[in-house]
Amino acid sequence: GESIIVKSLAEKMSISAGEVIKKLMELGILATINQEIDADTATLVANDLGFQVDIKIEVDKETMLVQEQEDAPDTLLARPCVVTIMGHVDHGKTSLLDAIRKSNVIATEAGGITQHIGAYQVEHKGKKITFVDTPGHEAFTAMRARGAKITDIAILVVAADDGVMPQTIEAINHARAAEVPIIVAVNKIDKEDAQPEKVKRQLTEYNLVAEEWGGETIFVEVSAREKQNLNELLEMILLVAEIGEYKANPNRAARGTVIEAELDKGRGPVATVLVQNGTLKVGDFIIAGVAYGKVRAMMDHTGRRVKKAGPSMPVEVLGFSEVPPAGELFYAVEDEKLGKQVIGERQVKKREEDLKVTAPKVSLDDLFNQ
Ligand code: GDP
Ligand code: MG
Repeated sequence: GESIIVKSLAEKMSISAGEVIKKLMELGILATINQEIDADTATLVANDLGFQVDIKIEVDKETMLVQEQEDAPDTLLARPCVVTIMGHVDHGKTSLLDAIRKSNVIATEAGGITQHIGAYQVEHKGKKITFVDTPGHEAFTAMRARGAKITDIAILVVAADDGVMPQTIEAINHARAAEVPIIVAVNKIDKEDAQPEKVKRQLTEYNLVAEEWGGETIFVEVSAREKQNLNELLEMILLVAEIGEYKANPNRAARGTVIEAELDKGRGPVATVLVQNGTLKVGDFIIAGVAYGKVRAMMDHTGRRVKKAGPSMPVEVLGFSEVPPAGELFYAVEDEKLGKQVIGERQVKKREEDLKVTAPKVSLDDLFNQ
């Protein structure tokens, strides 16, 4: 239903929020200044204070389109966890992703793991894990700015010969801000000058204390180069995932995030998307920012064609009208007509914004002094 924040209600009546809170208390409701109260309560308070209330139930087209309503608990099923690898440059993020991919991706009849897309899935002990290969920081900043949260678990890679570096700390901060658990992968332990214990000690300063030191952080010593302890890392990921109990509703229109996208000469706009809720199907009408289209074909991370993709599955999607930006949210929409309307409105808005940015400011003086 409709609701309003206490502060806004007070502002609308040009009275202090304190008065509204006091009135709410009289009604037996303890509320803070930033709390939402429902329309009925708001009406009651306003009437008591001598105001008329005219509540317009105005459902925004966008909201209607993307069906943002929450899924009922009994519609939710377990989904694979989504993992991002973060850390300082050259500490081995790409190598680790590649090593895990090469040793665990299930080969399919399409033959392959040669194709690179921005995300992939591995299977360990019958359980799937999704790895998203975005430059760690982008995953947490650009995407978060759009309200997207793609990662369940962050793997913090720290090279054992180099130790904690500036981007290591940045990565910790990003993961903390996103409130995702951190697993530390101490990499390059094959190197002669590796000092994994030093890394552990350094990280205690950032409240990442190893379990064997009485803390709660899981540390795994790995070598991406020698493919050492990779299964142990996967094991730990599954352990953390079990605690997280990640769920989604596969029986609704899909929504998720564009991981990466580009214009392919032969195939047109190609987007790698991560389905985060619902199931995406070939033939679905999808929108992402001002891009839209009908899903013409989908490929999994091995290049195999698939007809549908459920929660936590990354797929390449063909059919977008233009290249959607990485980090953009995408939605499959049932009402194509409404979808096109919303896209039209978004396009107008975007053009206006672009104009605002580019239009030079001209004052009357400028005009007369030409
Ligand atoms: P990224 O910048 O974090 O993605 O790091 P890369 O994966 O590109 O690795 C940086 C360098 O470290 C490359 O030269 C890798 O070959 C090397 N490297 C990565 N992992 C290991 C490892 O486990 N052992 C050793 N000896 N070298 C590694
Ligand atoms: Mg890299």
